[in-house]
Amino acid sequence: MNRPEISVALPVFNEADNLDELNERLTRVLTATGRTWEIVYVDDGSADASFEKMAAFARGDPRLRALRFSRNFGHQMALTAGVDAARGRIVAVMDADLQDPPELLSEMLKKIDEGYEVVYAQRTKREGESAFKLWTAHVFYRLLQRWTNVEIPVDVGDFRLMGPRAVAAFRRLRERHRFIRGMTAWVGFPQVGVPYVRPPRTRGETKFPLRKMLRFALDGLTSFSHVPLQLATWLGFLVSAFAFLYILVVLTLWILKINVPGWTTLMVFVLLLGGVQLTVIGVLGEYLGRIYDEVKGRPLYLVAEEVGGEEPGPDPAPV
Ligand code: UDP
Ligand code: MG
Repeated sequence: MNRPEISVALPVFNEADNLDELNERLTRVLTATGRTWEIVYVDDGSADASFEKMAAFARGDPRLRALRFSRNFGHQMALTAGVDAARGRIVAVMDADLQDPPELLSEMLKKIDEGYEVVYAQRTKREGESAFKLWTAHVFYRLLQRWTNVEIPVDVGDFRLMGPRAVAAFRRLRERHRFIRGMTAWVGFPQVGVPYVRPPRTRGETKFPLRKMLRFALDGLTSFSHVPLQLATWLGFLVSAFAFLYILVVLTLWILKINVPGWTTLMVFVLLLGGVQLTVIGVLGEYLGRIYDEVKGRPLYLVAEEVGGEEPGPDPAPV
């Protein structure tokens, strides 16, 4: 089988307005590398004309392929499907909204040639993002660094290139709550970052509202860290120590026969302990729910339709 040298996998969710420019720029960049390539678009249940567009691309050029999910499974699943379907020796993953500039690929490719197995794009600056998003992202990535044993680089999204060994390893990670930027770090091998300025979205709007961002951040934390569970233990110790000291106070007052009206203190302690206990149960619940999802062992995603890719991609078109 004629395997291309490079595959580029892109998750697409309602990006019809971006696809023409994206496909044009990506094709140009890939052709300029002088290697064989393919592009795998994964439509994550778009409601607009995204799939029709990519299917048309795929019909017009055997190097382009289009997959359609049976529904919206989320960005991380679409990325996973793209990597699973890729036939190239080297696999690149990037967003389809042009916030991951295709032009950076040639620089990243050089690093793969130097022997790096994972090359990630590291944002030195993010344009057009709210101060709130920048600040929360800043705090989150640093917290993640502190709380995990895996060296997850800071300010790195999913835009990256993986060599053959990293791709093979990545495909073996079938966990359901996926934090791909962490998973590719976990894989190991020599890894390196390429700095870039992340441009703003020019068309359409972000598909990650605050609620989804929080879920994703929680997935990242729980997938790579047990610290939240351990915090519960420490909190328990701390509260117990306070309680013990307070017992001494109460006993002393009892021995001295000083009767204090204790309603306020009682309420404070009941409420405090109730709050701590509920929080700890919540933390347990976060992990438990994830265990339940894993145990069910459902497939990660379902592909409803595929256009192109029936035949292996041909050698590079003469230029
Ligand atoms: N995306 C997806 N499924 C989703 C949400 C987003 O495939 O449920 C795609 C989206 O089309 C884009 C990429 O994931 O190509 C990143 O999404 P977005 O640009 O909205 O995220 P942001 O850059 O704002 O973090
Ligand atoms: Mg974006």
